[in-house]
Amino acid sequence: MSKPTALVIGAGVGGLATAIHLARRNFDVIVLEKNQKPGGRCNQITKDGHCFDTGPTFYIFPELYEAMFTALGENINDHIKLIRIDPSHRIFFHDNSSIQLTSDLALMRNQLEDFEPGSYSRFLSYLNKTQLYYEPVLRQIITKDFSHPQDYFNFGNLKLLLQAKGWQNHCSYLGKFFHDQRLKDAFVFQDSYIGLNPHRTSSLFSIFSVSELTKGVWLPKGGMYQVVKALLKIASKYGVKIRCGLPVEKIVTEGSRVKKIICGDGRSYTADIVVANTDLAYTCRQLLPYDDFGKRINKKRFSCSTISFFWGLKKIYPAIKTHNIFLTKDSFDGYDRVINKHLIPEKPHFYVHAPARTDLSLAPSGQDTITAIIPVGHLTNASPKKWRAIKQKIRRYIFKRLYDIGITDFEKQIKFELSFSPVDWLNEYNLTHGATLGIHHDLLQMGYLRPGRRHPRYKNLYFTGSNTHPGSGVPTVLLSSHFTANAILSDSNYR
Ligand SMILES: Cc1cc2nc3c(=O)[nH]c(=O)nc-3n(C[C@H](O)[C@H](O)[C@H](O)COP(=O)(O)OP(=O)(O)OC[C@H]3O[C@@H](n4cnc5c(N)ncnc54)[C@H](O)[C@@H]3O)c2cc1C
Repeated sequence: MSKPTALVIGAGVGGLATAIHLARRNFDVIVLEKNQKPGGRCNQITKDGHCFDTGPTFYIFPELYEAMFTALGENINDHIKLIRIDPSHRIFFHDNSSIQLTSDLALMRNQLEDFEPGSYSRFLSYLNKTQLYYEPVLRQIITKDFSHPQDYFNFGNLKLLLQAKGWQNHCSYLGKFFHDQRLKDAFVFQDSYIGLNPHRTSSLFSIFSVSELTKGVWLPKGGMYQVVKALLKIASKYGVKIRCGLPVEKIVTEGSRVKKIICGDGRSYTADIVVANTDLAYTCRQLLPYDDFGKRINKKRFSCSTISFFWGLKKIYPAIKTHNIFLTKDSFDGYDRVINKHLIPEKPHFYVHAPARTDLSLAPSGQDTITAIIPVGHLTNASPKKWRAIKQKIRRYIFKRLYDIGITDFEKQIKFELSFSPVDWLNEYNLTHGATLGIHHDLLQMGYLRPGRRHPRYKNLYFTGSNTHPGSGVPTVLLSSHFTANAILSDSNYR
C-alpha cells in the first residue's frame, strides 16, 4: 500500500515539527517554504563572526521543550546543549536604577530590600502563591488540547481561576506584594513576551516570571536557532523533504477538499493532507478562497510588532548582561500605546540582548553582538510610512538610555548595523499587520477560543503554529504541532 502524503506550507518551528510527527507515522511529507532558509521567525543572521538570533532569544519553560522533543521520539540533550543564564535579566528603570533577577536568593534579598524594605518576604510569598497554580495552569490550559467547549469551560478551570484570582489584572495583583512601581514592573514585563499588556491581562500570567525564577532562563549553545537545526536533523532522519525558496501562491479547493497547491514557480503539488503553518489570517486572505471563516479570522485582534536593530560592536560593555530590559516611567501608557492603540511611542520600553555574554562563540573575541528589540504598534491604515526616519528616532532614544547608564560611546563602537521594521516582518514572513506574535493572546482569543486546527470546510486542511492554541512562543508552537498531528491522525484512516 502506498504511503499517505502530506504537504506542509511553511518551514517555521510549527511546520517542521508537524512534518516530523507525520513522517514518524509513515506519511510522505514535503515542506514548502517561501524563504531560502527554514526556521521562520526563529531565525539567525551571521555576519563577520557575529551571530544574531533574529526572533526568539528567551529559552524558557525548559520542561515543555523536553516534553515536546520526547513526543518527537528524541532526547533533547542529544541535540541542544543548554547554558543557564543567572542572573537572568538586568532591568533598568526610568531613573537608571537597576535590578538583576536571579535565583540567588541572598542577592535578591539585598536588591529588593534596597528598593523597598520588607519586600523580600513579600517576594517569597509571591513566588509561593504563584507556584501553587503554576503546574495546574500548564496542565489544564497550556498543554491541554481543547476539542470541545467543556474541555475549557469547566469546573476545574473555574476553580483554578478563582483560586489564582485570575480575574485580577496582573499589575493590580503585583500591588498586593510590592508598593514600589519599579518592582511591580519588574515582575510583569514578561507578559510582553506574548504581546500582552500587564495592566489589562490576567494575573495568571505570573507563570512567566515564576518560570524564569524557578525553572531558569537558558541559552542553547550556538543560539536559539539550534532548536531549528535540531528539528532539521530529525526531519532528515525521517525523510521529510524541505523545499526552500518556493512560495505557495494558491491553495486550490474543490467542494470540501483541498485539491492542489500552486507554487510561485508555476508547479502544482497534491497530497492527502495539507497543513498550513503560514500566518492564519494571511492564509485565509491570500491563499484560500476568501470566505466567511477567513473574514472572521481577519477580524481578530492582533499582537504588536517590533523594530529590531542588530549591531556588530567593536567592544564589550560589562554593564550590558545577556538579557537587559529598559523600562519607562509610565508603564501603563507605554504598553497601552503599543498594544492597544497600535502607536509608536516617543520613549518606548525596549530589550537589549547580548548572547555572547553567555556563549562566547557568538561574537569575535573582545567584540560584541547586540540586538535591541523595541515593541511598536502593528501596521494599520493609519500607520506612518517613513520607517527609516522612525528607526533613526528610536535608535537615538536607545543610545540616550545607554548613555544615561554610563555607556557614552556606543554609536562609535558600531561596526555594522542591520534592522527590521514591521514592514519587514510583513514581507519576510507574510505576517498580517506585521504582528510579530500573530493573533493577540487575550483571554477571548486563547485556549478553546483560539482558532482551531481544522479548517471548518476543507476536510483535508489543517493549521499549525502560533495562531493556534497554545499560541506564540517556540515551546508552545512545538505543542501546537503535536496537537495538529494528533488531530490529523485521529481524523484519518492513516493511524
Ligand atoms: C521578534 C520576536 C521575538 C520573539 N521572542 C521569542 C522568545 O524569546 N522566545 C520564544 O519562545 N518565542 C519568541 N518569539 C515567538 C516565536 O518566534 C514564534 O512564536 C514562532 O517562531 C512561530 O513559529 P511558527 O511556526 O508558528 O510560524 P513562523 O515562524 O512564522 O513560520 C511560518 C513559515 O511560513 C513561511 N511562509 C509564509 N508564507 C509562505 C508561503 N506563501 N509559502 C510558503 N511558505 C510561507 C514563512 O516564511 C515561515 O517560515 C518571538 C518572535 C519574534 C518575531
